[in-house]
Amino acid sequence: MYPQVGTTDGPLLAMSSMDDWSPADSAELYRVEHWGQPYFGVSSHGTVEVYPTGDPAVAIDLHDVVEGLLARDLHPPVVIRFPDILKHRMQMIRSAFDEAISENGYSGRYQGVYPIKVNQQRHLCEDVRTLASEFDFGIEVGSKPELIAGLGLTAGLSDMPLVCNGFKDAEFIETVVLASKMGRNVIPVVEQAKELRMITELAAAHGVRPKIAMRARLTTSGIGRWASSAGIRGKFGLTISEMLDAVDHLRRVEMLDGLYMLHCHIGSQIFDIHTVKDAVREIAHLYVQLVGLGAPIKALNLGGGMGVDYDGSQTATASSVNYTVEQYAADVVHRIQTICDEAGIAHPDIVTESGRALVAHSSLLVFDVLGARRYPDKPDHDRLARALAEESPPQPLLDLLAAYKRLEDEALEVHDLAEIFADAEHAFEESKSLFSLGHMDILARAAAEGLYWATGHAVVRRLGDDLPEDLAGLSALLGDVYFANVSVFQSLLDSWGIEQLFPIMPIHHLDEEPTRRATLADITCDSDGRIDRFAGADGPVGLLPLHPLSAPDGTHEPYYLGVFLTGAYQEALGDLHNLLGDPHVVHVGLGSEGRWQVDAVVDGDTVGEVLEYVQYDTPALRKTLLRDVEGAVEQGTLSGAEGTVLRRFFDQAVEGYSYLE
Ligand code: PLP
Repeated sequence: MYPQVGTTDGPLLAMSSMDDWSPADSAELYRVEHWGQPYFGVSSHGTVEVYPTGDPAVAIDLHDVVEGLLARDLHPPVVIRFPDILKHRMQMIRSAFDEAISENGYSGRYQGVYPIKVNQQRHLCEDVRTLASEFDFGIEVGSKPELIAGLGLTAGLSDMPLVCNGFKDAEFIETVVLASKMGRNVIPVVEQAKELRMITELAAAHGVRPKIAMRARLTTSGIGRWASSAGIRGKFGLTISEMLDAVDHLRRVEMLDGLYMLHCHIGSQIFDIHTVKDAVREIAHLYVQLVGLGAPIKALNLGGGMGVDYDGSQTATASSVNYTVEQYAADVVHRIQTICDEAGIAHPDIVTESGRALVAHSSLLVFDVLGARRYPDKPDHDRLARALAEESPPQPLLDLLAAYKRLEDEALEVHDLAEIFADAEHAFEESKSLFSLGHMDILARAAAEGLYWATGHAVVRRLGDDLPEDLAGLSALLGDVYFANVSVFQSLLDSWGIEQLFPIMPIHHLDEEPTRRATLADITCDSDGRIDRFAGADGPVGLLPLHPLSAPDGTHEPYYLGVFLTGAYQEALGDLHNLLGDPHVVHVGLGSEGRWQVDAVVDGDTVGEVLEYVQYDTPALRKTLLRDVEGAVEQGTLSGAEGTVLRRFFDQAVEGYSYLE
């Protein structure tokens, strides 16, 4: 018989003992203070807490909310929005600019604008609109549908700025011109030279003088993923020559007094404050020059770009930022002021279109885990014995066994362990080739696989977290796969599309040690539907610490994971891959006596609805299916009762959630 080496059922990586574990350990492990301040924390009984007002004294237990939603028949996946967090963010951005303005003696004012492309969902936009009246914010739109939504949102609020970016046709521009004639504070931003002519012609035709803005194509590029939003070859805005032509044109048609705002946007998630400073310097000098030419510009719009520290590292890296909201505001105000003062020109009002920084924190996503795949950490002894008992067992199997046996030696050094795993890997590759060529039977192949995984686990157990460079990928190779009842493509598109990190952690069991390490696989039939990069203390890591799905007594209770800071872009960008539709959305607010309450529910898509999105006619589908079932019942292939099961399934599924319940 072969020896049994390192075959305990213990954790994948060495961790402290379970008795020592506290909620504070979980908070540290998942780095909640780094990315979650001041909105998220861990309660003393091991659940995630939400502090909607930024004050830990006012806490909502997230697990309690999820249980409450289940009682209302709202099953995960579910997006939970906290309008109070939105309010806190808007207040924070306004105060940061107001304070920088007053501290510096800046004579312009600050105007925030919410770009609805970041999340156009009506309930959220209505919350923004209500708060915008309180904190003097406006709305920004970038397409015809967004324009219609924006006009609706600002109805009755004629002072609220409605900034219109994006490419425009004559119909778009005429709507804007007429809205301006109606008394709305609507500001078209000229993106292309020809738009200006359309604006001036339609304004003259309707006898109105709208406010006009010009978007400058800065030479300062953004940074990271959206670097090409600006730069000399950027897609948007006017070049310097086109801006000079625009000023000449406006003067010629006697509408130069309408040139109200100079605009730029150098991209989203600007993670380095130096890039912000460079762009502000360039646009401020442009403002000074244009004012010098007689353009009566009153406002400088810096677009969006204020980033979010998704991984909590506070660094100039793609999923983080190396500045705070306050530093951003202080730098912007100071730089514009210095340049204007040097030129002796009035300080303009400062407008920003910060979308991500405004809404990201206010939403999170909760989903349940459906099951897990583990890579066994000990060989199946019976199967291995039977494979070895066969006449002349294949050489790769013997080599794998030899490698595994060598692990018995307690004096092995790191390089010995690396060599043993390399030998196991080589032998496993050979066994796969032999099997494909028909020279290894299925029993030996299965035994080889078992030895390979067991060797890997044993090596990691011996080395702990400090894997040498040549074994760096070993932990990720051996990690579990947790199956998540969610679609990455619908709810976390940026995780797939641009590898953005989001904070992810269990929302309960945080008073227990998470002894497993796993990647997440979603329920789409797409191998890209997975998450295998997570925020770690020293950069992204491949595995997330999670709890075993089954309790020691074998029972399996629901296990919920939360993905945080998902309020920006994820809902707007999500798609219908595999016909997994919009998840449920709920707005959770503070009720009386410290309780939480559901303020709004937007039911997720039903199966019938997603089928209709792709032009299926569900009544016709039902008829076809029933005809087929009836035929099978007539022929005796199905019993009448079985036919009824199928019919019921169809009827219930069409009305039901598109996710697994
Ligand atoms: N303004 C414009 C013109 C944009 O294109 C965008 C997004 O790309 C924004 C504002 C919002 O940017 P962010 O969400 O990074 O603040």
